[in-house]
Amino acid sequence: MSGFFNTKIEFLKGIGPQKALLLQQELNIFTYGDLIQHYPFRYLDRTQFYQIAEVYEDLPYIQVKGRIRSKELLGEGRKQRLSVVLADASGEIELVWFKGVKWMNTSLKTGVEYIVFGKPTLFNGRLNMAHPEMEEATDVKQDQSYLQPVYSTTEKLKNHRLDSKAISKIMAELLKAAAPNIAESLTPELIDQYKMLPKREALLQIHFPATTDKLNAARFRLKFEELFYVQLKLLRQKTVRKADLRGQVFKNVPTLTEFYNHHLGFDLTNAQKRVIKEIYKDLCAGKQMNRLLQGDVGSGKTIVAFLTMLMATDNQAQACLMAPTEILADQHYTGLKVYADKLGINLGKLTGSTKQKERRLIHEQLQSGDMKMIVGTHALLEDVVQFQNLGLCIIDEQHRFGVAQRSKLWQKNPAIIPHVLVMTATPIPRTLAMTLYGDLDVSVIDELPAGRKEIVTVHRYDAHRLRVFGFMREQIKAGRQVYVVYPLIEESETMDYKDLMDGYESVKRAFPEYGISIVHGKMKPQDKDFEMQRFVRNETQLMVATTVIEVGVNVPNASVMVIESAERFGLSQLHQLRGRVGRGAEQSYCILMTSYKLSKESKIRLETMVRTNNGFEIADIDLKLRGPGDLMGTQQSGVLDLLIADLSKDARILQESRAAAQQIIEEDPQLQLPQHENLRRHIQSLSKNTVNWSRIS
Ligand code: ADP
Ligand code: MG
Repeated sequence: MSGFFNTKIEFLKGIGPQKALLLQQELNIFTYGDLIQHYPFRYLDRTQFYQIAEVYEDLPYIQVKGRIRSKELLGEGRKQRLSVVLADASGEIELVWFKGVKWMNTSLKTGVEYIVFGKPTLFNGRLNMAHPEMEEATDVKQDQSYLQPVYSTTEKLKNHRLDSKAISKIMAELLKAAAPNIAESLTPELIDQYKMLPKREALLQIHFPATTDKLNAARFRLKFEELFYVQLKLLRQKTVRKADLRGQVFKNVPTLTEFYNHHLGFDLTNAQKRVIKEIYKDLCAGKQMNRLLQGDVGSGKTIVAFLTMLMATDNQAQACLMAPTEILADQHYTGLKVYADKLGINLGKLTGSTKQKERRLIHEQLQSGDMKMIVGTHALLEDVVQFQNLGLCIIDEQHRFGVAQRSKLWQKNPAIIPHVLVMTATPIPRTLAMTLYGDLDVSVIDELPAGRKEIVTVHRYDAHRLRVFGFMREQIKAGRQVYVVYPLIEESETMDYKDLMDGYESVKRAFPEYGISIVHGKMKPQDKDFEMQRFVRNETQLMVATTVIEVGVNVPNASVMVIESAERFGLSQLHQLRGRVGRGAEQSYCILMTSYKLSKESKIRLETMVRTNNGFEIADIDLKLRGPGDLMGTQQSGVLDLLIADLSKDARILQESRAAAQQIIEEDPQLQLPQHENLRRHIQSLSKNTVNWSRIS
């Protein structure tokens, strides 16, 4: 967009400084460019008329045409209302006003025909419409097509006469002035290939659609463009990075081969093998690796991590594995220590609770290169932690690490940036991964190790708790262990904490003969660890916990997961929790406990859990239920702050736009060819206009 679109909105006809300020404060609209992108969020169909006799209460906003038969002022003072009877050939309906009563009373004329637009409701058993829009039928031109735009606005704006209708008037002004300044922002080839509306036409039609078909075409064009530029940016970053960032070459694999042939103890799944090949290929290429490894809970990411670490240590580089919690770091350490010892590799652990003396020793060994591998938490990020030659960073459960922390790891090797492997068990839907991690390469472990039994999931009401306890007892008698998990949501922490303690007491009463561990976020790390370890060693048979156990913990003998107040957990979180069981050879169970009172959404979540174990399917449904911002946490929402496209619905457009962006970047990474002039110019104008750029960066 040209300089025209950087013009401040106060210069637009109909907007003075006061309204301009309000639009800035309430809707973040500063410039013509911002305003033109304030797209309607829905449209009212004003092409259809209802017969009054056909009107019923559940209808949305509708139109009727009729004459005012009578009107009457009722009540006194502030309670005064205006009641109008509107009639057509089929019947009558009441229209009421509670505000602006006097003015409406004088302006509405009995006997005149009106087009009335409003929402029918049932009041005291009678149908009426409150505060409908009224237009004299003679004022409305016959050819006026009528998909009327509805713009989001706020109470404050409405109070200053900036309701949706006023915004649409302003928009009409803007479009008139803007039309000659709207530059085409896609290439003629793309427009041709996808039969898209030109930019100017699309902007006109999105605000004032002539027909439903035109509206759909405008939507497609603008969504495509929005997603296309997000992808173009990510893909450019990726090519720039690939071209610029050297990476250490890890070709030798003697220890890895020894381990694989003699110590591994199980066969890798085909998916694991494929992923390891993908990683190895990256590590031999001489470019820095930035790879995301996705794999459902229990799919065996840890062993892939270890093999990757061996690739580094087999080539005189060091490797670190960073986990989001102390418990997880411990577990990784304990698991990998067994392997490392067999191979004579010096593996360390560094967490918040590492003692000062030991800490100093680890620092020294990392700096001298005596320590080849280290597992830890955020403690690894501290500046005092220096390496001789850090060649690889693996980050487990990536969603808890920000981009800033990733870059801190990069700085640990100033000579040559370490390779990065990010592992996540959150099965991100493809559409989302493409947008969020468009700059990363993605590997997927889409297969569980053989012999795993599908977890049986059931939904039980609190009223049937005794039976559930009975089932738990059977399982424990058979030698298994049981988790009981309570939600802990920060805002209501005290109450949740009480629920947890009450639950703990009732479990204690019900199972006096068994040992019970309790773990929650308020405990000191040592105490947490102590309780965890007792459960791991089967000294306790029941573990009562909050969601701190969500990530990573591995107790193969635990075969029952009871989730209390399951309606309060998100779908992905429920799936993560369920992944704590089903890790051994025994049949495992997940029991979702709730009260009888359930919202529609909770019901969908519970039904989904009972129906499927497929993490990707669950993630897709979760995305549809919650929307993308929520799913990934707020820190990433910037990426997803899309104006018109919707990642949960526009998967196909995303794929098409990505393919298009990919093709262009491959052909012309710098966008220097003449046929890409429109793209070049558009990117330039975006980067000048900081408000818009931030939306897609
Ligand atoms: P996650 O992907 O959730 O991190 P883990 O790496 O903790 O999963 O693996 C879960 C369990 O499966 C571990 O006990 C691990 O040793 C085991 N495992 C991993 N890969 C295989 C395999 N190919 N065959 C059998 N067991 C495996
Ligand atoms: Mg794991």
